[in-house]
Amino acid sequence: MNLDRVLNKEELTKDEIVFLLSLVKKEEIEKLYLYADEIRKKYCGDDVHLRGIIEFSNYCDQDCLYCGLRRSNQKLERYRMTKDEIISTAQRITRAGIKTVVLQSGEDHFYSKSLVTDIIRSIKEKFDPAITLSIGERGRDEYDEWKNAGADRYLLKHETANEQLYSTFHQHEKLKSRLAHISYLKRIGFQTGSGNILGLPGQTTEDIAEDILLCKEMDCDMCSFSPFIPSSDSPLKDVPAANTDLTLKTIAVARIVLKDVHIPATTALSTLIGNGAEVGLKVGANVIMPNFTPMPYRDNYKIYRDKKTYDPIVYLKEIHSILIKSGRKVGKGKGHSLKSIRDQ
Ligand code: SAM
Ligand code: SF4
Repeated sequence: MNLDRVLNKEELTKDEIVFLLSLVKKEEIEKLYLYADEIRKKYCGDDVHLRGIIEFSNYCDQDCLYCGLRRSNQKLERYRMTKDEIISTAQRITRAGIKTVVLQSGEDHFYSKSLVTDIIRSIKEKFDPAITLSIGERGRDEYDEWKNAGADRYLLKHETANEQLYSTFHQHEKLKSRLAHISYLKRIGFQTGSGNILGLPGQTTEDIAEDILLCKEMDCDMCSFSPFIPSSDSPLKDVPAANTDLTLKTIAVARIVLKDVHIPATTALSTLIGNGAEVGLKVGANVIMPNFTPMPYRDNYKIYRDKKTYDPIVYLKEIHSILIKSGRKVGKGKGHSLKSIRDQ
């Protein structure tokens, strides 16, 4: 295949996506990154959207093989933040000028339908940010109520589009069921986020191409492609972390295929390579998610080994100087889905 010809196409086939993900020549990879950055500029502009994360509980009822929070991990010191702690952290986020609060946790049913509703309502009333929930699979009645309470977005990754792999890593769940949750969330009006973990054992380049195509088919508003990093306390502890080039190529190709979706430079990318935010933003990403989880909790949200940790206010300064250097700027609004613009 010819790189220029593939890049000039409006729609890419699976084979063409695999071709791009398989590039090895440095100059060709550079061309891919430059083109992804052009597409990002054309469809998303220069705004970088900030989302402040609160990892409010590391209890989890699920047992995903790759994750350090899985319920079988007996070594993890578990915590739950109180409603007041969550609200005061949301205040820190909004005071820092960030207009999206991401509430993330393991799948923890201690936070009942009414407690989550109460937290959403309080945060909305007091500080009026956009709210993203990233709290795993819950009931439809819960999704309905939280949407009505004012939550704007829901992040629930499909993790892998390969059904067999999905069943390997989630021994009691099926991909079909995960996709049904994502479709329901979309149907009731949540801006939805999906995506994969890259570099899982047994995953092929074809699988990654399918992940990108599945995000397109589901018409998600946000898509996250984060590198696998082993957790020392999981069955995958000896599996090497994802390859950096493959991770960056995936972000770039996803940008070229998905065009106007939000794509974050993830914390996992910053854990894999120190300057993940800077590099991710150059190859197609347009979102950064600073972590505001207070200490001592932050240190126990151990999804994977050596998770990058920092003071969020210091990190924000770093982000601002990266943006100034690259001619980008922090988005002023809430950074809602770009699709509303597409549909106008
Ligand atoms: N429990 C919720 C869920 O699974 O949707 C939210 C929290 S979970 C920790 C957030 C994301 O972490 C998952 O969607 C998964 O992609 C990612 N993750 C888990 N273990 C990982 C690992 N070892 N390396 C990279 N990402 C990982
Ligand atoms: Fe739980 Fe989410 Fe980790 Fe799976 S990925 S074990 S649902 S925290």
